[in-house]
Amino acid sequence: MTEEVLQYLKENRDAQLNVLHNFLSIPSISTDSSHKQDVNKAAEFVADYLNSISFDKVEIQETKGHPLVYGEWLGAGEDAPTVLLYGHYDVQPAEPLELWESEPFEPEIRDGRLYARGSSDDKGQVFMHLAVFEAFIKTKGALPINVKVCIEGEEEIGSENLYAILKEKKDLFQADFAVISDSGMVASGQPTILYGLKGFTGLEFTLQGPSSDLHSGLYGGAVRNPAMAMAHLLASLKDEDEVVQVEGFYDDVEPLTEEERSLIAAVPGEDYQQSTGVTKTVSEKGYTAKEHTMARPTLEINGLFGGYQGEGTKTIIPASATAKMTCRLVPGQEPDKIQDLLIKHLEKYVPTGVTLNVKREALSAKAYKVDPNHELIKKAAESYAKAFGKETVFVRMGGSIPVVEWIDAIYNIPIVLLGFGTPEDRLHSPNESFPLESFDKGLETLVHYWNAVKMK
Ligand SMILES: [Zn+2]
Repeated sequence: MTEEVLQYLKENRDAQLNVLHNFLSIPSISTDSSHKQDVNKAAEFVADYLNSISFDKVEIQETKGHPLVYGEWLGAGEDAPTVLLYGHYDVQPAEPLELWESEPFEPEIRDGRLYARGSSDDKGQVFMHLAVFEAFIKTKGALPINVKVCIEGEEEIGSENLYAILKEKKDLFQADFAVISDSGMVASGQPTILYGLKGFTGLEFTLQGPSSDLHSGLYGGAVRNPAMAMAHLLASLKDEDEVVQVEGFYDDVEPLTEEERSLIAAVPGEDYQQSTGVTKTVSEKGYTAKEHTMARPTLEINGLFGGYQGEGTKTIIPASATAKMTCRLVPGQEPDKIQDLLIKHLEKYVPTGVTLNVKREALSAKAYKVDPNHELIKKAAESYAKAFGKETVFVRMGGSIPVVEWIDAIYNIPIVLLGFGTPEDRLHSPNESFPLESFDKGLETLVHYWNAVKMK
């Protein structure tokens, strides 16, 4: 059964790479209004492709920003599950152009990699799904599962309109589970299931002292220095073992099970000293650096300013000091509640003689996690392993993907993150590329996967 589909992909590899070439040649840069036509062209490309492989209800849905492409194929019947496939056809700007070895929108294959803006993020990976659907339709006349496709054009500018659309058109996009291929593997050729993402919240706060900078000789000794006060306040947030001291911060944290700890231990680790140039790694007491980055919450100061920043000395007591702080959250933690706890802590520990002003960060997200033992995840891991000839590893990631949180919040369905990128892909940077090994084995993974999940 599967053989014919795989055979089709092999025989049509060059033709399909040519079509991908055309897709990647469209500079669908969503942030740049001078590329509006190109963004529309990329949407049309996706819609045309879906039409050509007999998808139904193919539609370029207009939004307040860039359009979203919808299409469905529901011929697998009621016994088969329905998957919502999400991806994006927009790309980041290519600048700085002089650092590209070949033109960003003239795809080129060098040393087994396909170079072009969007080759990995995310046109290349979206295309892989389309190519696999084509292979099933052309050989079997049908897909093993029901499919709803949602490919947006605003991911690189924050998916501004997506949440509202997913909510408003809930019936249209409703599915049994979602699949997203917009992420990567921990190493080239290493099948990776990403089963958890961190949440996010943040604050900016200022300590206001005197109404203007003061002479440190005349006022030092009488007036609290806001920069020093800030140092004291920041020091109260975490102890030397990287344990956050904000009361209640860990209260709702889902504990890390022994099973997850062994999954994390099996992931090939990054040598942080080597990759970042630090002299020593630090992590929360009782946890390894891998465990802390993947599965324990963090609190970081992202920016700190106040006082004289110029050359030489200026003997002042600065009028104010400001810090920008964000936290990465894990399942169980509510972003709003954490924000409240942080503010409470700051209010409690702010030194006398300065006034605390807090600005809440508007962007926040809840963490996401799917059970690594979920049937849909296990089958994904098996499909990967079959195609790549290597055992799959399971990881959680410190980053956030807003659409994952939204699908989770609105639809409450399992989300399978099937990423085929590699750490060498240079997403958002010059010389973005995607390995052809990932392309070939990724196609095979998807064929195995759709076959494996075809029964509800
Ligand atoms: Zn992306």
